[in-house]
Amino acid sequence: MLEVDGSFGEGGGQIIRTAIALAAITGKEVEITNIRANRPNPGLSAQHLNAVKAVERLSGGHTEGLELRSTRLKFSPGPTKRGGFEGEIDIGTAGSITLLLQSYIPVALFSRNETKVRITGGTDVKWSPPIDFYTHLFIKALREMGCEIYLKTEQRGYYPKGGGLVEICVTPVHHLTGFVLPACEAGTESIVKGVSHSCGLSAHVAERQARAAEKVLHDNGYSTAIKIEIEAKNGAKWRTGSGITLWCGYKSGSALGERGKRAEFVGEEAARKILKELKSASTVDVYLADQLVPYLALSNDKSEIIVRKMTKHLETNLYITQKFLNGRFEVEKKDVTTEKETGFVIRSSGV
Ligand code: ATP
Repeated sequence: MLEVDGSFGEGGGQIIRTAIALAAITGKEVEITNIRANRPNPGLSAQHLNAVKAVERLSGGHTEGLELRSTRLKFSPGPTKRGGFEGEIDIGTAGSITLLLQSYIPVALFSRNETKVRITGGTDVKWSPPIDFYTHLFIKALREMGCEIYLKTEQRGYYPKGGGLVEICVTPVHHLTGFVLPACEAGTESIVKGVSHSCGLSAHVAERQARAAEKVLHDNGYSTAIKIEIEAKNGAKWRTGSGITLWCGYKSGSALGERGKRAEFVGEEAARKILKELKSASTVDVYLADQLVPYLALSNDKSEIIVRKMTKHLETNLYITQKFLNGRFEVEKKDVTTEKETGFVIRSSGV
């Protein structure tokens, strides 16, 4: 049985999600202690419980210690990698749908049968990938690696009420191909695309977010194509919220609206974030880097990504992935930015 110290690196929820998914895929039993030790509210929250339950359901596994605020759990994978269920998962309130998918998708890809599920929760919430990041970067990268995944956002859900609805269908993958994107190809796109969205607010909010982002990007020499998505001011008041996600190749910048935060500030924040990525000679942004790590190691082919800095999330996923799938990464320093950051090339050798 593998023992994992949940306080390693970021010491948050990611180490649990990756460990449980890789345990189900590799058939290795795992015990995780010190769960979310580095968070102000340690232990499992609803989002993590749901992620583990979804993996249990997919893989036929069993977990001890699966309770709210639990700081220790033991996951025993089932004998079959069955997959093949159709169903619903309700995370409750605004628990992040994309974070649940971080455990769910890899297990579904390595199951025997196709899996289809509708998930209710938050689609655009703090500290987690926005749903548009999933659609336009993460799932796109997985498709590039040979995966067949259908994902549709039926409805957005923001903090605190959630109520977002996403449908996802995952077909088991036969051959996960390597992810290699030459640095010269990574910088060839010059149009920054995006979605500026709002729900239950005046129509000008999403417009102003988009215009502010465009101004910053145009001033820096980029063309833009930002879609505006407005959900009725009346009727969806209980799901009120706004945000903007920008992307160009495999790099993104996003920001969320909040009461008292000007729409212009939201747009500028997202634009400044993507510019930071675009100005570096990386091939993927810092978020995609940590999220791709388990997939790179699960592929039998060689992969290579370049990232502008080593984040705690990246360090955590490299650590936990190597624990399950021994010695698959080579990490080398590389200057990719003019800022005071050390970039890295991450290579996975395949088997
Ligand atoms: P905790 O519940 O302990 O606070 P968590 O479960 O929310 O933690 P983390 O361990 O913090 O999860 O992991 C967050 C994940 O969300 C990481 O994979 C990170 O790359 C991703 N992420 C966070 N913000 C963004 C963003 N703006 N765009 C894309 N991905 C993001």
